[in-house]
Amino acid sequence: MKLAIGVDIGGTNASFGFVDRNGKILLKDYLVTTDFPDVKDFVKAMAKRVSELRPPNSELIGTGIGAPNGNYFHGTVENAPNLKWKGIVPLAKLFSEALNIPAVLTNDANAATLGEMFFGGAKGMKDFIFITLGTGLGSGIVANGQLIYGHDGFAGELGHTIIIQHGRQCGCGRKGCLEQYCSATGIVKTYFEILRSEHPDLMKTIDTDKIDARYIFDRALNGDEDAFYAFNYTGELLGFALANSVAHTSPETIFLFGGLSQAGELLFNPTILSFEKNLLHNYKGKVKILPSSLPENDAAILGAASLVWNEIE
Ligand SMILES: [Zn+2]
Repeated sequence: MKLAIGVDIGGTNASFGFVDRNGKILLKDYLVTTDFPDVKDFVKAMAKRVSELRPPNSELIGTGIGAPNGNYFHGTVENAPNLKWKGIVPLAKLFSEALNIPAVLTNDANAATLGEMFFGGAKGMKDFIFITLGTGLGSGIVANGQLIYGHDGFAGELGHTIIIQHGRQCGCGRKGCLEQYCSATGIVKTYFEILRSEHPDLMKTIDTDKIDARYIFDRALNGDEDAFYAFNYTGELLGFALANSVAHTSPETIFLFGGLSQAGELLFNPTILSFEKNLLHNYKGKVKILPSSLPENDAAILGAASLVWNEIE
């Protein structure tokens, strides 16, 4: 039985699993990333766990790694702000040496995009965009059947397209990036802005640390107009940004994944409305916006493993 190892590197945990060609995870486990200040110790520990847990009668064909700031061309993780491993880390090389099988690496959003293509709703599609709405906004673009890496390996950073000139300060150093509005953290900022302007007294007494996207979602379901409007505003900007993206690659479908996309109609309705309104007439009514069909908890491992299958096929 041929299996790929899918590794998802996160700031806190690094989860991994053994995945077959049909997207079945035979076994999964994780290491605590922060336990390993030295990346070499991390890879050594990972290789040990892999050999201990490896399913019997399996042939391991490669390791796929999804990592923040991962560069596909070089197999490196480059200056990832929420990892302890600083600078440029040759993670793919370290993995292939430790496990004696090929290793391929890309950023986590690109990995999830391939996961959707191999194991999710994008099976058989040649042109689609995958958006992950988490703490930030990640994205991957597949055109003509291939994941787009671009000239330097960093293609598909829709989260850092500027949607509002002189807008909110972004972690990338510029202002007005899409992810400052359309993400779990973005919607919280929007909600605070609404409260500040509509209910300045309330804003003084409220425990702002307790407010997250989930809280706003619950409030919106319970008829809180400010929370409802926060979703509307988020969807309006997202639909607008996606309508512009369509002009680049003419996708068949745009998939939304991640915590915020679980808000369902609250997010999808305003997004689709604004999307259709802003689309060029050639595209109107032709591009679907759908929820990802990858399971939330396993998407990262599946995505990373699909990197291996993608290289082979
Ligand atoms: Zn930015």
